Amino acid sequence: MDDSCFLFCYANHEMKIIGFTMQSFKNLPDGYALIREIDAFKNKHDFTRINLYAFIVFGAMMLMLIKTPFEIPHLTDTWFDMVLFSILISIAILIYMVLHEVVHGIFIYLTSGEKPSFGIKLPYAFAASPVYFDKRSYIVIALAPIVLFGIMLCWFNIIVPTEWFWFVYILQIINLSGSMGDVYVFGIVLRLPSDTLAYDTGTQMQFYSKKV
Ligand SMILES: [Zn+2]
Repeated sequence: MDDSCFLFCYANHEMKIIGFTMQSFKNLPDGYALIREIDAFKNKHDFTRINLYAFIVFGAMMLMLIKTPFEIPHLTDTWFDMVLFSILISIAILIYMVLHEVVHGIFIYLTSGEKPSFGIKLPYAFAASPVYFDKRSYIVIALAPIVLFGIMLCWFNIIVPTEWFWFVYILQIINLSGSMGDVYVFGIVLRLPSDTLAYDTGTQMQFYSKKV
């Protein structure tokens, strides 16, 4: 890759953003051994933690609903409005869930050059790729949706008319609480050795390092 490239560039399965290089490998390089595994289905500890964090974030944000300077005028004045609000918010949540995975997928593609695959294993939806990502790219892939949508929804919350405040706020609750799996993975990867490679099949993540 061209060394003069600084802000953003991409070549040969290597992405560079603001001086940071991100790499991925099709095969596990020699000398690497499995050091950690996360499996939300097989491992009760991972599953409980992820759902506990999601519940805490969800609960904390719902508390805001109790005492607030913002009313929900007009959107829920009548039964018709309420039904309409429910339908609209359900559609918006579904669209959010798809876009969340698409953002993971875009970053998988940018860092590896590989087309991501998408799937659903209730209660999780996922984007995955049979590639070994270095620590930095894996963190970017994991946190991209919560950060991007977090900032975007915050901005929407400021610019939309007051009556739409809660509509956007509910989407933010879904964004933050629904991304706790990503945040949980980030917390674990952060503490792993710097040479860690991550292999993610969607609901199961394996981490390899030479420093065992
Ligand atoms: Zn995610």
